[in-house]
Order: sequence, then structure tokens, then C-alpha cells
Amino acid sequence: MWWNEILLGYYFVLSPTCTIFVGTMTIQEAQARVDAWIKQYGVRYFSELTNMAVLTEEVGEVARVIARRYGDQSSKPGDDLDLADELADVLWVVMCLANQTGIDLDEALERNFAKKTSRDSHRHLDNEKLKY
Ligand SMILES: [Mg+2]
Repeated sequence: MWWNEILLGYYFVLSPTCTIFVGTMTIQEAQARVDAWIKQYGVRYFSELTNMAVLTEEVGEVARVIARRYGDQSSKPGDDLDLADELADVLWVVMCLANQTGIDLDEALERNFAKKTSRDSHRHLDNEKLKY
């Protein structure tokens, strides 16, 4: 078995078809990994409309886990309540939509932080409903 370290030690390539992620990655790197996966295994991106439907489906799966784990709904035998996996499914589809529409989510998230900070920097601090 041979190992090659690439990209600042974040990935180890075991073979041309097997890469193991062993560290942290930026959102931009995650988008690139999703893009590479789609091109290698997914043939092509689903259409934007299909991915919007898939995103809605995955958000529903997050809701299903939350309803059972934190809400009043009970689980059935065999229920798979893996919140982390369902959130990752949501993130995956969001990255697909970003990739196929030319959006850099690192840059978009930076702008979003700036927007929220300028708009809401006192709004929540001053919200009496949030004080215990
Ligand atoms: Mg899912």
C-alpha cells in the first residue's frame, strides 16, 4: 500500500480511486470534492430543479430525526436517526446547487456574515424574548 500526502496534509490518496479525508477542509475544498465526486461517480449534476427537490427531501429527513430525537414523535424499530448524516446530505446538495450555479460558498458565507453583522448586531442582544 502506498500513500501520497496532498493539499497541505488534508487528504491521503490510497490509490487512484480511493482517497481518505483525514483533516479539516474549507468550504471551497468541500465544494471541489463534491464536484470531483459528481464527475467521477455521478455522471453529471442533476438539474437545478431536481436538486431543489432533493434538497427539500433531505431537509425533511433532518426534520424527521429532530422530531423523534428532540420532539414528541416516537421512533419505530429500525429507525435510523443519524442527524449528522442527514445534515451532511443537506450540505452535499447545497454544494451541488452552488457548484452548478457558479457560487463560491466561502465567499458567499463571508458576505452573509457581514450582512448579518451589520443588520442584526444589536437585534438579538436587545431581544427580551431571548433572555432567560
Ligand atoms: Mg438523507
